[in-house]
Amino acid sequence: GHPALAPFGTTIFAEMSALAVEHGAINLGQGFPDTDGPQAVLDAAKEAIDAGRNQYPPGPGVPELLDAIALHQKRFYGLDVDARSEVLVTVGATEAILATILALVQPGDEVVTFEPYYDSYAASIALAGGVRRTVPLRFPDWSFDEGSLRTAFSDRTRMVLLNTPHNPTGKVFSRSEIDLICRSARERGAWVVTDEVYEHLTFDGADHICVASLPGMWDHTLTISSAGKTFSTTGWKVGWVSGPAEAVAAVRAVKQFVTFVGSGPFQPAVAVGLGLGDDVYAGLATSLERKRDLLVAGLRTADLPVSVPAGTYFVVADAAALGATDALTFCRELPARAGVVGVPVSVFCDDKKATASLVRFAFCKRDDILLEAVERLAALR
Ligand code: PMP
Ligand code: GLN
Repeated sequence: GHPALAPFGTTIFAEMSALAVEHGAINLGQGFPDTDGPQAVLDAAKEAIDAGRNQYPPGPGVPELLDAIALHQKRFYGLDVDARSEVLVTVGATEAILATILALVQPGDEVVTFEPYYDSYAASIALAGGVRRTVPLRFPDWSFDEGSLRTAFSDRTRMVLLNTPHNPTGKVFSRSEIDLICRSARERGAWVVTDEVYEHLTFDGADHICVASLPGMWDHTLTISSAGKTFSTTGWKVGWVSGPAEAVAAVRAVKQFVTFVGSGPFQPAVAVGLGLGDDVYAGLATSLERKRDLLVAGLRTADLPVSVPAGTYFVVADAAALGATDALTFCRELPARAGVVGVPVSVFCDDKKATASLVRFAFCKRDDILLEAVERLAALR
C-alpha cells in the first residue's frame, strides 16, 4: 500500500460496522441517522433522476446548488459569497478535506489540529506529506491549554484544521477560543480550514460560529460543509468548500483528478434542502437534542461519566467502570458482550493513554434503539 497510509489500516467505522452486522448489535458506532430527512429533499432527488439529470454535472457543481450554498452562507452567517468563483461542490466533506489539504499543504508543511481529530484528517495530511501537530482537548469539558496551542505552531505551520461542532467530542468552539486560534494562524500566515459539517446540529442554544464570517477572516479561511448531516443523507455524499476564489480554484484543480465530479441528481436535491425554512433546520436540532438527552440520561443510569455534547451526533462516555482500560479492545469486545457498538476515542488521538477509557456513542438513532442500547449497557454493571 501507500507508505504514508501504513499507520492507518482500516477505518474504525468499517471495522465497527462490520462487527455490528456480525453480532446483530445495535450500531452506535458509525454516525449516521436511521431516519430519513425532509421529504422535499428526497422527492427532489427522485425528480432530478426522472428529469434525466443523470450524466456528469459541471465541474464546480450544478448552478442551482452553487447559488443555494452562497445564499445559505448569507442567510446564516451574513457572508457575501460569489457562487461562481468562491464555491466548489465535492463528493462529501471527505473529498473537500482531502482536496483542500492536497492543494495547500506541501511535503514538510505542518498542519495544526485538535485531538481527538476526525480520522480522515490524519490520513489526508499524511497523503500530502504534511506533518500533523495536535492540540489535546481534555475530557470532560474538552478545553485546551493556551500553551499547547502556542507550541503546536511553528514557522512551518501552513494550516489550522478546525472542526466545530467537533466530532467526536460534541464540543462547539467558543468565540474566544476561535479568536485565539485565528490569531495564532494569522501570526504564522497560515490558512484556517474549518470543517463545519455539524453547523446546524447544536443544542441548548449553543451558537455555531462560522469562522469565515469573523472580522478579517474571509481571506484566510476555507469553509467545508456537507449535506449529509443537515439533511440526514449521509449516503449522498454532497459536500462543498467555499472561500477566496484563488484557493477554491486550487482545490478544484485537485478535485478534477480525484473524482472529477459527483453526486449528479443529488446536487439539485440538496439545493432544494438548503432553501427550506428555518423550522426544518430547527426541527432537526431539537429532535437530536432530545435524543442526546435520552442517551446521556441512560449512560448516567449505567453510572458512566459523560461529557454532555453541545452539538453533533455523538456523546463520549468514560467506560472505565465497565472495565475499559484500553477502549479499542473494549469496543472490539462490546458487540459480543453487550450487543452494542461504540467507537474508541483513542483511534482519533496521538496520545492513546489520555483517552484510553473513552468511548463515543452516536445518538442519531430512533428512540427505541437508544433505550434498548442503554438497557444493554446498564446490564453490564
Ligand atoms: N468531517 C466530520 C467531522 C465528520 O464527522 C464527517 C463524517 N460524516 C465528515 C467530515 C465527512 O463528511 P461526508 O460524509 O460529507 O464526506
Ligand atoms: N462521520 C461519521 C462518524 O464519525 C461517519 C464516518 C465514516 O463512516 N467515515 O461516525
